[in-house]
Amino acid sequence: MEVKRSVCDGCGRPPIVCYCDLLPSPRLAPGVRILCVQHPNEAKRKALSSVPLLQHSLEDFTVDVTEMATLASVPGRRRVLLFPGPTAEMLAPSAETEALELVVVDGTWKEAKRLVNNSPDLQALPRVLIACSASSLYGSLRNEPKDGYVSTLEAVAQAITVLRHGDNRIQLRLLSLFGEVVARQTAFADAGRRANEAFYDGVPKPDRSRTPARAVAPATDDGDCREYIFYTVTTGFDGREAWAQHGPAFVSSYSHAMRLCVERNEGRKRGERFGVVLKETFARRTAEDEA
Ligand SMILES: [Zn+2]
Repeated sequence: MEVKRSVCDGCGRPPIVCYCDLLPSPRLAPGVRILCVQHPNEAKRKALSSVPLLQHSLEDFTVDVTEMATLASVPGRRRVLLFPGPTAEMLAPSAETEALELVVVDGTWKEAKRLVNNSPDLQALPRVLIACSASSLYGSLRNEPKDGYVSTLEAVAQAITVLRHGDNRIQLRLLSLFGEVVARQTAFADAGRRANEAFYDGVPKPDRSRTPARAVAPATDDGDCREYIFYTVTTGFDGREAWAQHGPAFVSSYSHAMRLCVERNEGRKRGERFGVVLKETFARRTAEDEA
C-alpha cells in the first residue's frame, strides 16, 4: 500500500513545517521583474529551497525550470544576469529599473555554472554582481561551497536593496521570513534526530537507504517484552513484495530487537538486510499477501 505524504496546498511543505502563516500578504512589490532559471535537480531536491519563498513573497517573480534556458525577447525589456564573470559589473540602480529584468540562476554552484554555459541566451546577457557580506542563513541545512556564495533568496534580497537605492525594507522582510522558516525547519530536523536517537536507544540509525525494514512495529514501552521476528523482503517481477521469516521468533524489548537488527545487518549489502517486526504484524502481513 502506498502511503501518500500530505502537503500543504499553499506552500507544498508537509503541514508540520508549513510556512504559509509567515508569508507577506499582499506580496511585496520590489519594482523590478525577476526571472529565476532553476536547474531541474534543484526543483526535485527535498531540502529546503529558498526559491519557493520568493515565489510566494514577491510580485513579478517567475521561475523557469530548465536545463537549457531560452529567453523570448520582450520589446523595451533590459535583462541582466546576476552571475560572476570577467565582464561582470557591480549592480547599480538606474532610471530604467522599471524596464529591467534581473535573471538569476538557482541550483548548486556546479549546476548554476552548467545552466549558464548551456544557454546562449544566458551567455549573451550582460552580467552583474552584488556584494554579499553576511554568511548564508542556511546554516547546517545546506552546505554552501564557499564564502560569499549565498542562497538565491539572500542574493535576490540584496539585489533588490541595491536597485531601490539602498532602501532595504524588502530585503529585511525577506531575510526575517527566511530566518524563521529555516529556524522552523531546523527545530523540526533536530526533533526528528532526537526522536531517532531515543528510538534506537542511542545506537546510530543506519542510513535510511540501507534500512530494509519498511514496516516496523510502533514503539512500545521498553519494559514491554514481546515476540519479534527477523524477516527479509523480496520483490517479485510482478512488483509484489514477499516477506520471509528468518529464524524462530524471539522475545525481546523493542529497543533490544532494534539493536539486534542493526548488529545483524552490519556489513550486509542493500537488498540482503534484515528487518525486525512484531510476530503478529508479520503474521498479519503474510496473511494479507496470501489473500
Ligand atoms: Zn503551507
